[in-house]
Amino acid sequence: MSEYLDIPSLYGSSVFSDKEMRARLPREIYKRLAASMATGEELDPAVADATASAMKAWAIEQGATHYTHWFQPLTGTTAEKHDSFISPQKDGSVIMELRGKELIRGEPDASSFPSGGIRATFEARGYTVWDITSPAFLYDNGDTKTLCIPTAFCGYNGEALDQKTPLLRSMEAVSRQAVRICRLFGDNLTQRVTTSVGPEQEYFIVDRETYLKRKDLIFTGRTLFGAMPPKGQEMEDHYFGAIKERVSNYMKDLDIELWKLGIPAKTEHNEVAPAQHELAPIFSTTNIATDHNQLTMEVMQKVAKRHGLACLLHEKPFAGVNGSGKHNNWSISTNTGVNLLEPGDTPHENAQFLLFLVAVIKAVDDYQELLRVSVATAGNDHRLGANEAPPAVVSMFVGEELEGILEAIEKDEPYDSKEKDVMKVGVHVLPRFAKDTTDRNRTSPFAFTGNKFEFRMPGSALSISGPNVVLNTAVAEELRQFADELEEAADFNSALHELIKKTIREHKRIIFNGNGYDDEWLEEAARRGLANLRTTPDALPAFISEKSVSLFQTHKVFTKEEIEARYEILLENYCKVLSIEANTMLDMARREILPAASEYSSSLASAAVTKKTMNPAAAVGYEEKISLRISDLASDMLTKAEELEDELMKAKSCGDTTEEAVYFKDHVLPAMNALRIDGDALETVTSREYWPYPTYGEMLITSY
Ligand code: ADP
Ligand code: MG
Repeated sequence: MSEYLDIPSLYGSSVFSDKEMRARLPREIYKRLAASMATGEELDPAVADATASAMKAWAIEQGATHYTHWFQPLTGTTAEKHDSFISPQKDGSVIMELRGKELIRGEPDASSFPSGGIRATFEARGYTVWDITSPAFLYDNGDTKTLCIPTAFCGYNGEALDQKTPLLRSMEAVSRQAVRICRLFGDNLTQRVTTSVGPEQEYFIVDRETYLKRKDLIFTGRTLFGAMPPKGQEMEDHYFGAIKERVSNYMKDLDIELWKLGIPAKTEHNEVAPAQHELAPIFSTTNIATDHNQLTMEVMQKVAKRHGLACLLHEKPFAGVNGSGKHNNWSISTNTGVNLLEPGDTPHENAQFLLFLVAVIKAVDDYQELLRVSVATAGNDHRLGANEAPPAVVSMFVGEELEGILEAIEKDEPYDSKEKDVMKVGVHVLPRFAKDTTDRNRTSPFAFTGNKFEFRMPGSALSISGPNVVLNTAVAEELRQFADELEEAADFNSALHELIKKTIREHKRIIFNGNGYDDEWLEEAARRGLANLRTTPDALPAFISEKSVSLFQTHKVFTKEEIEARYEILLENYCKVLSIEANTMLDMARREILPAASEYSSSLASAAVTKKTMNPAAAVGYEEKISLRISDLASDMLTKAEELEDELMKAKSCGDTTEEAVYFKDHVLPAMNALRIDGDALETVTSREYWPYPTYGEMLITSY
């Protein structure tokens, strides 16, 4: 039964929103708070105290007893440490209190979060600072409600220890440079420029009972064994297909939870693989979109549990069917509401658009390796280049129309046959690009889609902070170079034309409108000199290169120490993931698969003996053949398990993390693949009754 839902009143009801602030704060305080929220500037103590007190009152009315500084450490998830509002009084009673100081700054015991060696142990303390541009919210967990204050997390000397600090810094950087460009076009009104993101989140839903029977899913988020079911995604009947009732009920509940948190969940549909789905919110400012996406991933898992389901966010939960990504739709606009990637209608608007467009083209070309780094994880390595997601080579799609225009500018030609004049920036009007001509290529890693770019390489489990830090900073750098040059120009229009022309000439190699899944493209990309960094250990060294350090230092996004620390954490994480996967495989092989296979083959053997005892002429071909086949496979599997164990030991005795990660990639991963082949072969000959865990078919097709 569907009940009526008053969504407008529900929406944002768990957020200490602008509306709540205005209603609860004295006018003068509210005005000062709103000003700080718009600019991100620090609050003065009086405003902070009043805000804290109003926020506490609101939270308590809704049933909260605790608050937490909510932050995003480098573990990839979110962290919180709960404090209650109680404050003891002299007479032995307590009052409920939240002071301005506590709202703005916290000191969690941070010593056990990864810091990549940046923080010596005697400086174990870190602190969290309220990101005033992201609103506080109430998080429901069963019977408890907690007031969550979104914060950035830093070491004692201000070193960034989280995902948010560099993101905020990169947003500042791009704003600073983009405002300079706006001024050059005579825009004196714009004060800030912000980047916006709409992340499309893919995920799998499986039955929880089924999920709980698989150690690989529980410990690693992906299946490490599993033979292909008779029916996979070949019928292509799942994509945009009718949503099953159980999933539809889940989605409804998920929407409600997200809407309460002010997360604008908008579209939900089935994806290509069976049991795969997607959720896309309406885009928002990058730091808020990042907070929201982290929360979305948590809420997805929480609500799934409530429905007897499990939500899998891993990039490749099932071999042989499509994995999950997270498309990062990115745009850049002024605080006066102009989308700088919108071509506009006049030659003047067109000229500004073209400059921003070529800035992004140059940024993606110059920093292609860093973009690759920003999506590099053990999980995503299974997806990129596997003909279901973009290849590991970064390239850009701009559509034929726009490519034609860029070519006309570069070659001083008219852009269509009806025109007589050569294409002149700032003089000619560009044609309107229809959305369907800019959105057709689904295989491109980085596509222009009419008024935004869609970066399609991020994996489904990734925080979108990293990709956006790189994107913002790289674009900031190109805008800086452009502004430096154009500010000095005697004749702005001709300097602009020449700059755009030169940029197209030097960076058009990154533009590729063809099929990115084609092997020929990889050869062509190599001829063009584009990087093809296939795995995480291949990609990560670009992060600590001189070019990378110089970029991030120039724009005050990372110090050299912060980069080195992050490099170390990323590598460590890669090794840890593979190590857990290898150990899980060994455990499943020895304690589940081999015993099951042995039991089944002995039952076949005794059946054969019994039959022969009853009648020496009885045919026992089936029992004998399968029993022998299982014995062969099982012995081989045992050998493969020993080999894997051996490689794992060797990996762990490598000298440094870089070496260790390469060893994991070159030796441990192939040993895991070899072990899996035997396991999956055994699955196909062992009776279902004896098989220790649910099969692909049961998880993907028949479980709900
Ligand atoms: P699809 O990719 O399915 O065709 P859209 O392109 O309309 O759908 O939107 C995909 C995502 O891009 C959504 O999250 C949407 O909010 C976001 N998006 C739309 N416009 C912008 C923009 N200007 N900046 C950033 N994200 C945007
Ligand atoms: Mg899209």
